[in-house]
Amino acid sequence: MIFSCFFIAVLFGWSAVASHAQTAPKPPDHPAITFQGHTYTPRLIVERNMRSEADQTGQFPPHKIIGNIYYVGTHTLSSFLIVTPQGNILIDSTWERNVRTIQKSVTQLGFKFSDVKILLANHAHGDHQEGDALVKELTGAQVMVMAEDVPALKAIKPGGKEHPIDKVLHDGETVKLGGTTLVAHLTAGHTRGCTTWTTTAQEGGKTYNVVFGCSLRSPVPLTPPIVAEFNRSFKVVRALPCDVLLGDHPAEYNLDEKYAKVRKGGPNPFIDAASCRQEADMEEAMFHAILAEQQKGAKR
Ligand SMILES: [Zn+2]
Repeated sequence: MIFSCFFIAVLFGWSAVASHAQTAPKPPDHPAITFQGHTYTPRLIVERNMRSEADQTGQFPPHKIIGNIYYVGTHTLSSFLIVTPQGNILIDSTWERNVRTIQKSVTQLGFKFSDVKILLANHAHGDHQEGDALVKELTGAQVMVMAEDVPALKAIKPGGKEHPIDKVLHDGETVKLGGTTLVAHLTAGHTRGCTTWTTTAQEGGKTYNVVFGCSLRSPVPLTPPIVAEFNRSFKVVRALPCDVLLGDHPAEYNLDEKYAKVRKGGPNPFIDAASCRQEADMEEAMFHAILAEQQKGAKR
């Protein structure tokens, strides 16, 4: 009896891990780095990004970020709406079970979900793109994805649904709709086709550079091709002009802190060029710490 209960518990534990993480088991809790007074390990970064199941699925108050860009995601999984006179662009469907929440946020902001004409994404992991098929079903949007992420995307099939792919993009390609232009920058490492999107937004008669940063989180262990990708990607990210940094997880750009300032009033807290490089600096320090630990281990 004890044995069978244990066995059932193991089985349940496994299915919970498989459905929530989809990818690898929990990353290790070493190496540790200290960055701006905070301690990070690979495991702590994932916990910071994902938090609880309730945080991954619970609606964050939908809000305007800047110009025609709005937040329609959950507490820990970002989804962005870009509104144009010719229809709207959505970046990240997140988990399939979140799509109705995203739809609700779009509606609460006064827009129509059916006006989403183009669906883009951050990278080919389930927590950012599992809902693509359902968004397409509900809106008819064209799903555009980075070429290098296509193999990983084809494996994301909730309920057996084929992953929709209407257009394959390449590094530097632009997506245009109703006067808004987004540029796709390949910033691989976290996934082979991890995409950093850039655009500009207008506010108070000024134009600001907006960066939708791709995850720069290192998988563990790092393999030589992934090391080469990150060495290139950190350079690419640093070279992008940036006044407003956004990310696939709100913790990457301190949404809680910034949204508290939105509620107080005053200058737009999302315009924050000084913090544009913070996430890259932290992730690059972690990348080097993981590499150093691996090289030390290899020499033993
Ligand atoms: Zn990911």
